[in-house]
Amino acid sequence: MLKTIAGFDRIGEENAFAVLARANALAAQGRDIINLGIGQPDFRTPEHIVEAAIKALRDGHHGYTPATGILPLREAVCADLKARLNVTADPDNVVIVPGGKVTMFMAILMFGEPGVDILYPDPGFPIYRSMIEFTGARPVPVPIREENDFAFSAEETLALLTPQTRLLILNSPANPTGGITPRAEIETLVRGLEARPDIAVLSDEIYSQMTYDGNEHVSLLEFDSIRDHVILLDGWSKTYAMTGWRMGYAVWPDALVDKARKLAVNCWSCVNAPAQYAGLAALTGPQDAARAMVEEFDRRRKVVVDGLNALPGVSCRTPLGAFYAFPNITATGWKAKSLASALLEQAGVATIGGPDFGILGEGYIRLSYANSTENIQKALARMGEFLDTNR
Ligand code: PLP
Repeated sequence: MLKTIAGFDRIGEENAFAVLARANALAAQGRDIINLGIGQPDFRTPEHIVEAAIKALRDGHHGYTPATGILPLREAVCADLKARLNVTADPDNVVIVPGGKVTMFMAILMFGEPGVDILYPDPGFPIYRSMIEFTGARPVPVPIREENDFAFSAEETLALLTPQTRLLILNSPANPTGGITPRAEIETLVRGLEARPDIAVLSDEIYSQMTYDGNEHVSLLEFDSIRDHVILLDGWSKTYAMTGWRMGYAVWPDALVDKARKLAVNCWSCVNAPAQYAGLAALTGPQDAARAMVEEFDRRRKVVVDGLNALPGVSCRTPLGAFYAFPNITATGWKAKSLASALLEQAGVATIGGPDFGILGEGYIRLSYANSTENIQKALARMGEFLDTNR
């Protein structure tokens, strides 16, 4: 018997990938499946970005790069943060990673061990809890409530801090709810965190460019009083339709950046070189394709929300960011995971049950509107028929 460390008995998964596999298997059997399950843009990576990767290979950029990424890319990340969010960052604090997810892996590994508390949003991205469990730290869910428009409550978050808390994970705009935490709430949170310089804050801002109706994205890096303990997570996957390229970045505080670099050296050496040149073209080239995607998501968002609210027993708040709707399905009489599974098997619509995102996810399902309006409308019609006959 091979005996691995105990963490592997506790580590979880992202059910979105299992749903994707099942949806693909059903489609391979000839079923007409509409996938509103997985969270990835349905657009192609903009052409000039693809060309930059091809050119990089032709120009001979096929070798190792510095572990933290090529300098022009790290400089471009800083210029982009300045232009978009008016925050300053030093290229020496930037670490390019193979996907934004890797930054959460690194941060949780850095702080998690038995005896330590790590706070994370519930409902939230499932990997937070999974990785916390892996390290043996105590996962402390921060409730993200529908009645609070799926924003973090500063008061509730701060009340959960204990002397054992070492890491707080924030996410806005949020998966799976589409919630955005408003500036006033973030400012209250920051004031509370000023008293706890021993707590690192991982701010997952991967959906920073997907905000609607004039809602503002507030970066945690704005706040000089705490930035010595803030880790910013962002990347290319969602903004530039580059999920399969595996390109993300983090801005680490001075105290942690060398540890992050060492993890990179020990694990992946560097992100593949042509992808880094593609990432550079994404940040420095024209932004119209990225903007057009967000405008299209915004149009679909309205279709999804109106359509969901017209379904029997379903009510859906208007998501303020990202590309997910998180309707409340309690009044349908269904349990969330059973409903998601029945919708896939019987109605051919892939969604994710809310409990895959945490304890407070019961009573909800997640729909990604990164799919065509036509498919979204078809999916909503199928869901309506299904609920009419199965309540
Ligand atoms: N953070 C959140 C909240 C996400 O939803 C995702 C992807 O779904 C990620 C991070 C990871 O992104 P990447 O594909 O760049 O690893």
